[in-house]
Amino acid sequence: MQNLVILGATGSIGTNTLDVVSRHPEAYQVHCLVAQKNDALLFEQCVQCNPSFAWLENDESAKRLALRLSEINHPTEVLTSYDELLAVISDASVTTVVSAMVGAKGLVPTLSAIQVGKKVLLANKESLVTAGQLFMDAVKQHHATLIPLDSEHSAIFQCLPNGLDTESIGLSKLILTASGGPFRTKTLEEMRSVTPAEAVAHPNWSMGQKISVDSASMMNKGLELIEAHWLFGVPSSQIDIVVHPESIVHSMAQFVDGSTIAHLGDHDMRCPISVGLSWPQRITSGVNDLDLVALSKLHFEAADETRFLNLKLARNACEAGQSAAAILNAANEVAVEAFLQKKIGFLSIAEINDRVLQATPLSPLDSIESVIAVDTSARQLASSFITKEGG
Ligand code: NAD
Ligand code: MG
Repeated sequence: MQNLVILGATGSIGTNTLDVVSRHPEAYQVHCLVAQKNDALLFEQCVQCNPSFAWLENDESAKRLALRLSEINHPTEVLTSYDELLAVISDASVTTVVSAMVGAKGLVPTLSAIQVGKKVLLANKESLVTAGQLFMDAVKQHHATLIPLDSEHSAIFQCLPNGLDTESIGLSKLILTASGGPFRTKTLEEMRSVTPAEAVAHPNWSMGQKISVDSASMMNKGLELIEAHWLFGVPSSQIDIVVHPESIVHSMAQFVDGSTIAHLGDHDMRCPISVGLSWPQRITSGVNDLDLVALSKLHFEAADETRFLNLKLARNACEAGQSAAAILNAANEVAVEAFLQKKIGFLSIAEINDRVLQATPLSPLDSIESVIAVDTSARQLASSFITKEGG
């Protein structure tokens, strides 16, 4: 029986995880559900899966949840302090932590799960992008098990003979596929005036707002390139990005003998989530089998770094080292939020990322404190550019 903590339970990955878990009550139970402020959904989730604890960042939301649970004499205990969250993650009864908060704030709780040797199912790519070396060192040092949930990385994980280990297996290249997002065929001029509603309307995937905007700007693929670099220990020069509008081939590994091994599946996150939960076994996930005859054709195109500047920025940041990646990620989180609030235009996201990267000196990141310091100063700089643009 696996006992789960789900960080980001009310989000797209969190709800899909609970869907898979609910299909296998004999194998999985939920110890703690964690979210920011959606107490209404968290209440329903508590009633559905009876966790020992529920944690909400927002105090008002936590009070409302505690009141509603007490009205029905429900045993789930509501927690709000950060120390309590870290204690729950470290509890000896917990086997598995699903890391599915959005943004770099997922770093500390995810790392604390790694530091106590848990099995970590990683959706929160921002934490790995921000602190890649420290993160992967901690996985080794504490003998934690890390399994990617991001569909591309889950695909590659499944294509490699030994999961995350790429040494001496004759690997020549990783190929990340990208849907191209809702603006795949738009010109730069057309992208200048797109709205947040258009940006979050992804053609294939239903996801949270932030990653949907990242998909539209191709920053998601840029972050995934950095994520793949750290997860699989492969330099960015050996990671290609190919646009594949159908999102059926989730990524590929190419080998020196001319073989290319791909993972195919419907675009439904319950597939990589179930892989993470049950690996190396397989469980049903609710995802339909592929009908290759009905699909009939799959298409592949080159990725365009001119229209999607974020791709170039991410590749350069990956090569420049950890602090460049942390700066890029922080600037992007601020810029995406400003775009969603209609303070800046869509193309300004990549422009602000570029300006923040150019204006910030790179420094070695040898501790979580140094990561947080770089992250904070990049956010401040990005915010100052936004204020100027808005004003
Ligand atoms: P989402 O916006 O749908 O959900 C985010 C979740 O994080 C919510 O439950 C929210 O309450 C929680 N959260 C946010 N801030 C928090 C805080 N300070 N404290 C506690 N909880 C907090 O996002 P999502 O689409 O589920 O994405 C989550 C992560 O998974 C992101 O890092 C994303 O890049 C990654 N991911 C998502 C998908 C997808 O299909 N949605 C695919 C691959 C990777
Ligand atoms: Mg992905």
